[in-house]
Amino acid sequence: MSRSHLSPETVAVSAGRPGHLPGAPLNSPITLASALVPGGDSEYGRHGNPAWSAFEAVLGELEGGTALAFASGMAASAAVFDLVPAGGVVVAPRHAYYGTLNELRVRAERGAVDLRLVDIADTDEVVAALAGAAMLWIESPTNPLLEVADLEAIARAAGESGVIVAVDNTFATPLRQRPLDLGADLVVHSASKLLSGHSDVVLGAVVARDPETAAAVAARRQSAGAIAGALETYLAARGIRTLHVRLDRAEANARALVERLAGHPRVTGTRYPGFGTVIAFEVEGGTDAAQSVTERSRLVTYATSLGGVESTWERRRRHASEPDTVPDALIRLSVGIESADDLWADISQALG
Ligand SMILES: *Cc1c(COP(=O)(O)O)cnc(C)c1O
Repeated sequence: MSRSHLSPETVAVSAGRPGHLPGAPLNSPITLASALVPGGDSEYGRHGNPAWSAFEAVLGELEGGTALAFASGMAASAAVFDLVPAGGVVVAPRHAYYGTLNELRVRAERGAVDLRLVDIADTDEVVAALAGAAMLWIESPTNPLLEVADLEAIARAAGESGVIVAVDNTFATPLRQRPLDLGADLVVHSASKLLSGHSDVVLGAVVARDPETAAAVAARRQSAGAIAGALETYLAARGIRTLHVRLDRAEANARALVERLAGHPRVTGTRYPGFGTVIAFEVEGGTDAAQSVTERSRLVTYATSLGGVESTWERRRRHASEPDTVPDALIRLSVGIESADDLWADISQALG
């Protein structure tokens, strides 16, 4: 049966199921195996595991490519950076996820890559930086400043110059943005966030548009060994089954909260790209005021990470590793699927 006509909601629910045979489970089991009987896809647990397949099948179909599970989002990103030839130029957003920037800087310091940081929302600046580049790394919206790139324009320009295009699609998910359709070669996910959706998994994935690139990334995974656990891929596949419902609900909450935040007298600089579940804003009174707001909430959990069913927030610069291009008083709010009114009651009491 051709599945190409199915809508994303149907794909999320139906892709990556075991064959519909008498006695078969509806969900792919968690296979705990370091060694497998020869003759199948894999005979060693670092080379392949049947438990990865459900997650890879459903994510690959949602993004429109071949998905590969990794131990974490950063392991997935590192496998993609490994595709850059020695000393190759990588163009990347100045305000990307701090872990990504850190990994690129470590590589640049030892000469493995030549790093060119750009304002990813400035299409002309990005296009001008592509000359002689090996890879364009896009994060959109960016974490935590929520800048949005003109993905189609910069991916097209990069493709015309033979530059490999990779997109960190963690914030948008394939339900809001399908980078491979817009000209990207690779998509990277921190599946620890919205895809899993319950703050109980650390997992990553790479999705490649063509099979040769997928094979190159799979070779990096097998060689470097940053492989996913069977339990984590099971939980992430289960999370994706409800992604569309969670995302619709959290996004509706985010839209309701953005309006109320923007109208609050103590709130400044509200950022929201118009879709997704993350809002950033600043609080009048600076660092200490913002920090104490995040510590006063009762319903919104004061914690890092994002994309869970429960709302969380934190002042990003409380982490020493967050770059100082992020305002000191910036609070990143990850909106969950609770009642928007209950969330606002809590947020407004915390704002005081
Ligand atoms: C969290 C995050 C990562 C890193 O993913 P891990 O699963 O924590 O390794 C990468 N990119 C973005 C945008 C993230 O939010």
